[in-house]
Amino acid sequence: MERDRLQSHARPARGVRRDRPARPSGPPAGASEPGASEPGVRDAAPAPAADPAVAARAPDPGVAAPAVDGAPAEPILVAVDLHRRYGEGDVAVNALDGVSLQLPAGAFTAIMGPSGSGKSTLMHVLAGLDTPTSGTVTLAGTELAKLDDRRLTRLRREKVGFIFQTFNLLPVLTATENIELPLKIAGRPVDVAWRDQLIETVGLSGRTDHHPAELSGGEQQRVAVARALITRPAVVFADEPTGNLDSHSSAEVLALLRRSVDELGQTVVMVTHDANAAAIADRILVLVDGRIARDETIAEPQQVHRLMREVR
Ligand code: ADP
Repeated sequence: MERDRLQSHARPARGVRRDRPARPSGPPAGASEPGASEPGVRDAAPAPAADPAVAARAPDPGVAAPAVDGAPAEPILVAVDLHRRYGEGDVAVNALDGVSLQLPAGAFTAIMGPSGSGKSTLMHVLAGLDTPTSGTVTLAGTELAKLDDRRLTRLRREKVGFIFQTFNLLPVLTATENIELPLKIAGRPVDVAWRDQLIETVGLSGRTDHHPAELSGGEQQRVAVARALITRPAVVFADEPTGNLDSHSSAEVLALLRRSVDELGQTVVMVTHDANAAAIADRILVLVDGRIARDETIAEPQQVHRLMREVR
């Protein structure tokens, strides 16, 4: 895919780092944490097969206005003092214990932290898949708590794309049908040019009629990346997207996510425990015990490793 063609669909830059070169191939991603069979789904979260939440309608992704002359972009995602408690009394766990953050549109943010530090909980709460015990999330200008279930589902379809560790493709559908699924669920027409461009961009041109079982893990995740991008969502949430991939496929998927940010102005939030994956982001938030312990701009995996040693 030539850059020109990608850029013909690109949104304008929004004052986030654009000086950072796209990384065509990253270093190997590491081992995975155990993946849930229905990742992204806990408590109130909908089943991905029924609501792949990779969906839908919006030609207008609801993104913030372009920044002017380097002024900071308006945040696309704002969280204020998030708390999420599981259980009550002596057994209560404060999975989130006062998280506030602002993510500008068009930025690539990695969320890291030791196991149990609240990464998944934070991602689910930010994406509207889980409800905080207190605190607010505002996504593309809409405060999630103000939406009833139906509107929240619609907002997820329209504004959010998901990439899961276990791909979550529907086995009975071809690659193309999986990519189109969010639009079909929303009853929206397929922008064929955009779909084909995505298929070419993720390198699946010869594989579009294959079913997931006929594709490698890396190919399946590339289908999932295209599925997440097909609706031009305001934010793509990626939950350990390289956790089930070999190092080569990991590098390819990370490079694709990076390109979606650099060339399409996509906002990406990626949960990962892998320093190599995190180093491809613009910004790394490190959670410890449900709080943001570090908020760093880091470029090299070695720096990420050091950072993680410091918070342990
Ligand atoms: P991470 O993704 O960083 O491994 P999680 O967000 O999954 O962390 O979990 C944060 C804390 O919340 C952990 O102590 C975990 O045991 C707890 N937790 C997560 N989900 C639930 C749940 N559904 N019920 C009870 N405790 C939970």
